[in-house]
Amino acid sequence: MEVKTSLLDNMIGVGDMVLLEPLSEDSFLENLKKRFDHNEIYTYIGSVVISMNPYRSLPIFTPEKVEEYRNRNFYELSPHIYALADEAYRSLRDQDKDQCILITGESGAGKTEASKLVMSYVAAVCGKGQEVNKVKEQLLQSNPVLEAFGNAKTVRNDNSSRFGKYMDIEFDFKGDPLGGVISNYLLEKSRVVKQPRGERNFHVFYQLLSGASDDTLKKLKLHRDFSKYNYLSLDSAIVNGLDDAANFRTVRNAMQIVGFMEDEVQSVLELVAAVLKLGNIEFKPESRCNGTDESRIKDKNDLKEMCELLGIEQSVLERAFSYRTVEAKMEKVSTTLNVAQAYYARDALAKNLYSRLFSWLVTRINESIKVSDAQAKTRHKVMGVLDIYGFEIFEDNSFEQFIINYCNEKLQQIFIELTLHEEQEEYIREGIEWTNIDMNLHLLSNNQNGILAMLDEECLRPGTVTDETFLDKLNTICAEHQHFESRLSKNSKFLNDHSLPHNCFRIQHYAGKVLYRVEGFVDKNNDLLYRDLSQAMYKANHSLIKQLFPEGNPSKVNLKRPPTAGFQFKASVGTLMKNLQTKNPNYIRCIKPNDKKASHIFTESLVRHQVRYLGLMENVRVRRAGYAFRQAYEPCLERYKMLCKRTWPHWRGPEREGVEVLMTDLQVPADEFSYGRSKIFIRNPRTLFFLEERRRQC
Ligand code: ADP
Ligand code: MG
Repeated sequence: MEVKTSLLDNMIGVGDMVLLEPLSEDSFLENLKKRFDHNEIYTYIGSVVISMNPYRSLPIFTPEKVEEYRNRNFYELSPHIYALADEAYRSLRDQDKDQCILITGESGAGKTEASKLVMSYVAAVCGKGQEVNKVKEQLLQSNPVLEAFGNAKTVRNDNSSRFGKYMDIEFDFKGDPLGGVISNYLLEKSRVVKQPRGERNFHVFYQLLSGASDDTLKKLKLHRDFSKYNYLSLDSAIVNGLDDAANFRTVRNAMQIVGFMEDEVQSVLELVAAVLKLGNIEFKPESRCNGTDESRIKDKNDLKEMCELLGIEQSVLERAFSYRTVEAKMEKVSTTLNVAQAYYARDALAKNLYSRLFSWLVTRINESIKVSDAQAKTRHKVMGVLDIYGFEIFEDNSFEQFIINYCNEKLQQIFIELTLHEEQEEYIREGIEWTNIDMNLHLLSNNQNGILAMLDEECLRPGTVTDETFLDKLNTICAEHQHFESRLSKNSKFLNDHSLPHNCFRIQHYAGKVLYRVEGFVDKNNDLLYRDLSQAMYKANHSLIKQLFPEGNPSKVNLKRPPTAGFQFKASVGTLMKNLQTKNPNYIRCIKPNDKKASHIFTESLVRHQVRYLGLMENVRVRRAGYAFRQAYEPCLERYKMLCKRTWPHWRGPEREGVEVLMTDLQVPADEFSYGRSKIFIRNPRTLFFLEERRRQC
């Protein structure tokens, strides 16, 4: 058998950055570019896959390719995401090791596409049969459903995931899929009521209006025309290459495959329609004799239609938009809302309705795809796929970016810890001495929990709490922190920094400095919905909406406030990190080649920045610090035995000894390699090139 070390045969640059010689940031970028220019979008750093977004469809994801990579060793063929998926699947199936696939990169870098490629590869190679196929189909079809409700067009990506997703796929001992569990993280619900310029609301709104039949729209009391709805931004409603109507049919079909009942789909669409109606409810001030303004609903038609859709008595909702009731010490006090407060209440309801609907969808999908109780009792194995929003630096960064970046910081930390750890384990396993590598960890492990904790403290504190008091608190407590900057901080060095506005603070994240505007932090973290509104929703004669607002049940008066958004997020990220740490990690590092969503363009400065903050150079250095290259004895002997008479054409005896004879014969200096239990470790890529050169001359 000819074992191909295609990483070197491949003349298009170097397939594994570990073998790059000489190694520098420039040569790293040059190699990426060269490969990208030749449609080689994948490059390894050892077992890590770098994936460049091609922004066009390449013929490398065909069933033939799947067959090509199936059951082959990782380094045998040219770099491909399938090689990683295959390796992960086989070690899960054959070595009983739970796996996780961690996909990182900034928005638009190709994470979601990568996660789908991994899932479809695994689905293609694992088990067959009717039952198994049904499970696979349901797992795969959960994607279009969640994308319709959780993705949107943004400036950076026409199909940007606005939620984080982690999916555990469970397999039986033979490696056949049994089912799965999806966890979702913090949907960007502010998008429901307002979208930045050039961006859209979640896909489903446009899909429904474009794709539903006239009859369906009539039942939902909707117009086809986007411009009728306040919550839909119009400047970018039509997206090139995005067929909302066709996608609506795909989503409907996917919902059916996943197992949604027709009446459930109907309920879901009613809620989507209700959100659109809600956005059209407008308020006007009405002066009272005491000189204050009270809010009144301008035109009650949308309110009426919304109430009809959800089976809510109109007067109940109308009242909830006019008053706010606060219960204190067994006493209820109602105050009237002014116009601004009424709009605030309306938007809070829309955001809550939509995000709770989204979470319900995830729960409902999980019900369908969950492993049956009987199967759950048998031994099974798990592959987790994490596709979470990437690091975000916008011009205007708010609470959402803070939370997203916090999560990325955690993931980066885990990446560093685990890659080092994995490297160390391999050395120990192979009986090779491990020398500690000094890495710049302090930047990555800085603890942003502090800020979230302070925000919580501030939100729960009695008295007047505003974004400004929160910033004051940060200024007092974080002033000395080397990664924290603010104009008002006691640290006077920032006083003259005019790039730092007064209402902002700046954090040095591992991926760059981000300026956060405090406006809205307290509010978004509190995430409060006036009780009058949750009670109105609970009274609805609509089983889904009732389910979504359990706190509106008057018999369950719970004076304890719900946990803050930040607290919940931190807790779920904590659980996620613990889960990931029990699994064998596989990394896909996605890179965005340009800012134009265009194919064939490689913007060097942009890629350089990503290479830097993803820590890819450090990654190569770690891999090379000890032994750059390693190969199991058998393929090594197969490949190079022709270089030595004593091992050619047949070596009789243990392969390791064959390799030893080979190396001695070739006079490779002894400190250039080390013999592990199953692999030879070669210190310097040059040695490998020397072997390859000799081979070529043969
Ligand atoms: P992310 O999840 O990192 O924000 P996506 O996976 O949504 O990014 O990718 C953004 C867009 O880039 C996709 O909608 C698609 O057009 C394109 N893209 C990403 N990966 C690929 C790929 N492997 N082949 C072709 N196009 C891709
Ligand atoms: Mg995505």
